[in-house]
Amino acid sequence: MPNKLMWFRQDLRVADNTALSIAGEDPSASLYGLFIATPAQWRIHDMAPVREDFTLRHVQTLRESLAEFNIPLLYMEVKTFDDIPEVFNRLMEQHQFTHVYANHEYGWNEKKRDRAVIDTLEEYACDLHLFHDQTMLAPSLKTQTGKPYTVFTPFKKSWLSEWRSLRPNIGGKPIKQKPPDEVASMTLPIMSSTDHAARWPIGEQAATEFLQRFCLERIEDYKDYRDIPSVDGTSSLSPWLAAGVISARQCLNAALEANNGRLTGGLPGIDTWISELIWRDFYIHILDSFPQVSRNQPFKEKTKAIVWRDNDADFNAWCEGKTGIPIVDAAMRQLNQTGWMHNRLRMIVAMFLSKQLLIDWRRGEQYFMQRLIDGNLASNNGGWQWAASTGTDAVPYFRIFNPVTQSQRFDPRGEFIKQYVPELTGITGKDIHLPSPVTRAAQAPDYPAPIVDLKYGRERALSAFASIR
Ligand code: FAD
Repeated sequence: MPNKLMWFRQDLRVADNTALSIAGEDPSASLYGLFIATPAQWRIHDMAPVREDFTLRHVQTLRESLAEFNIPLLYMEVKTFDDIPEVFNRLMEQHQFTHVYANHEYGWNEKKRDRAVIDTLEEYACDLHLFHDQTMLAPSLKTQTGKPYTVFTPFKKSWLSEWRSLRPNIGGKPIKQKPPDEVASMTLPIMSSTDHAARWPIGEQAATEFLQRFCLERIEDYKDYRDIPSVDGTSSLSPWLAAGVISARQCLNAALEANNGRLTGGLPGIDTWISELIWRDFYIHILDSFPQVSRNQPFKEKTKAIVWRDNDADFNAWCEGKTGIPIVDAAMRQLNQTGWMHNRLRMIVAMFLSKQLLIDWRRGEQYFMQRLIDGNLASNNGGWQWAASTGTDAVPYFRIFNPVTQSQRFDPRGEFIKQYVPELTGITGKDIHLPSPVTRAAQAPDYPAPIVDLKYGRERALSAFASIR
């Protein structure tokens, strides 16, 4: 009996999984699933331990979900992507797969890995069938001159018109497969319980419930509350989206339902949320079209000339949330304690590191990846290069956020700050945003003085950027 294989990567779900639904269309052959853990590669890619834990837990539930469709999940562990062709050699000899299915991944190393697997499978006359699945629309939108989009607004316009003409459907679950021959049981790693499991429960069902609750209770107010970090105003779906436990199409579908089927022109909160999902597609398009962004290079060539400050003390203070700028410190402590950070705060701390401290954005990008449960190359790189003004459609270099003004605007009573910076709980009034030396001495003696004068830091950044113009 012919055997087929579905290779899961960052698409750990059964519902609306493009490659899986195509692999599972014909129930006359046995279909196996495969997940290959590559811990050393994950280290090279700076995958956070919390993200690794989240992924491996989902592999366990995926195995249970697939069993309902008679699809056994094979689990392999090797060091890096370079070891994967050999995994396929072994699998082909054991199971003689006739077809292998997977969804595209767009990073440089992932594409290289897939090319090597294609070459290996060729020796067995077996094809690797790859499908676009990570985005709501395949990353193939082009401008009228046939080039990839590099600016969000025209990209979004084209995206909306393409979506309206295609109206892509949500894929279902696979058909129940013919039970395979005896499969040697493969042990999965045993995960101990973590603090994060309570906030981000495991499984497609949990992610779908989160989405439904968000669409029922909060999406309409998204525009008003999405920038307020002390309020639960965003969906918090990013960890599941990053691991592919839920698809962006499923998210869009739920938003459309809440918006009476309107893609735009509906409730402002829902329109804004849909726009954020399109930002996600945009950055994946950028990653696919401009390989330099996954190779540690700025999108804007000329920004390579910026002379960044090599200052470990300032960088470490930023990492630890001890810069003396309360909103920055609260945000960094949120990241360190929970593995997640609110979007407004990601923008504030990224801008503070790359502008007021003039430290290379790549150090911040790496630190985020090492800590985030939703760490994702396309969005993280996109966000960092936006804040550092080195990226596509980035903030102009002279529009430097003042973290204190941002704090006054988005955390006016300092509620978020006090949640993460207990040294400041005794401070009342406006001083919470930047305690004066007198207030600090009297009410927050353990809290550090600012490591940079914000006005000076701003001027320093402006002249560094002006010098390369
Ligand atoms: P919601 O506001 O509910 O948005 C829904 C979904 O839309 C998100 O889950 C996400 O998938 C997508 N989305 C929202 N905003 C953006 C955006 N600006 N860019 C791309 N996609 C977006 N997001 C990641 O998923 N992984 C990262 O590693 C990451 N790093 C970032 C680094 C920086 C410096 C910045 C400024 C942003 C980064 N983002 C990243 C984007 C954004 O901050 C998170 O997606 C968002 O905070 C996740 O929270 P949420 O699920 O509640 O989002």
